[in-house]
Amino acid sequence: MQDCLFCKFVNRELNTDIIFENDDFIIFKDIAPKAKNHFLAVPKKHFKYLSDMTEEDSATVGRILMKISSLTKLLGLEKGYRLVINQGDDAGQTVPHLHIHILSGQKMGWEPA
Ligand code: 5GP
Ligand code: ZN
Repeated sequence: MQDCLFCKFVNRELNTDIIFENDDFIIFKDIAPKAKNHFLAVPKKHFKYLSDMTEEDSATVGRILMKISSLTKLLGLEKGYRLVINQGDDAGQTVPHLHIHILSGQKMGWEPA
């Protein structure tokens, strides 16, 4: 999709430090980390909401979650981790391309905002 930041990372139109890639998705560090480790997992296919997914997209997202959980060392998942998907304005979604936040490397609290 034109003018989508994360599509541009996927297509290499813009540079970011991609630390993992397969046919389904890429992973890179978040530019403004909210935890000691903060990565973003971005499907190669553009869609904004989980509710936009086709059956095939949902299988892709399932594979992405499984793969993330296996990248223990790379993502620092040894002692636990948190996955977050912001959807829409109330959640603070700022990039309109589905992405999974991967937070790890520290104890995390639970605050709604
Ligand atoms: P959202 O708020 O949509 O759930 O998450 C978007 C995330 O993308 C934010 O955590 C923000 O820091 C990150 N982000 C925005 N622009 C860039 C960028 O140019 N490079 C990287 N690596 N992360 C970005
Ligand atoms: Zn996109």
